[in-house]
Amino acid sequence: MLRHIRLDHRGLALLRWIAIVILGMNLLWLAACTSTPPAPSKPALSPAQVQKLQQMRLPSKLPIPVDDIKTKNLKDTWGASRSSGRTHEGIDILAPRGTKVYSATEGLIADLRNNNLGGKVVWIIGPAGSWHYYAHLDDHKRGLKVGDYVKKGDLIGYVGNTGNARHTAPHLHYGIYLNGKGRGAVNPFPYLR
Ligand SMILES: [Zn+2]
Repeated sequence: MLRHIRLDHRGLALLRWIAIVILGMNLLWLAACTSTPPAPSKPALSPAQVQKLQQMRLPSKLPIPVDDIKTKNLKDTWGASRSSGRTHEGIDILAPRGTKVYSATEGLIADLRNNNLGGKVVWIIGPAGSWHYYAHLDDHKRGLKVGDYVKKGDLIGYVGNTGNARHTAPHLHYGIYLNGKGRGAVNPFPYLR
C-alpha cells in the first residue's frame, strides 16, 4: 500500500515534469512562430509631411545647391545630348570632389538608393509635389536616411563623380521634376539665377 502511494507520487511528479517540458516547448514554438511574420511596415515618409509639402509653393528662385558656387559659375547644360538618345534633364555644377551639397528646398528625403547612371544619389520631395535629384555624389551626409526632413540649405552630401560620371570631372547633377519622381523635368538653370 505504502509502496503504491510512493509510486503514484513519483509517477505524478514525472507526469508534471513532462507537462512542463511540453508546455515549454509549445511556448518556444509559439514565440518562434509569432516572430516569423514581418513586422507591419509603417510608411517611411510621414503622409502628413508629404501633404504639407504638397500645399506649399515652389519658389521661382532656389539657392545654388553646391557650396561656394556663384551664378556666374553656372553653365546651362539642359537638353544636351547624352548616351542612348537621352537628353540632359538637369544641370551639371562643376566643383571639386568633396564640396558640400545642400538641399535647394526644404523637403523629405525620399530615396537614397544608388543607380547605374546617377551613382550615389539623393531624391528629395520638395514643395508643391516637386522632386529634386542630386546625383554623382561622392557620399551622402553621414547618417542621412529616408524620411528625414531637411530645410533649405541643409547639408545632404558631397560632390563626386559616381555612376556614369566616373570618367568625368566631379560635379553635381541637379534635376527638378514637377510631376513626381522622374516625371515632368524642367530646366533648373532659371531657378538658380
Ligand atoms: Zn548631369
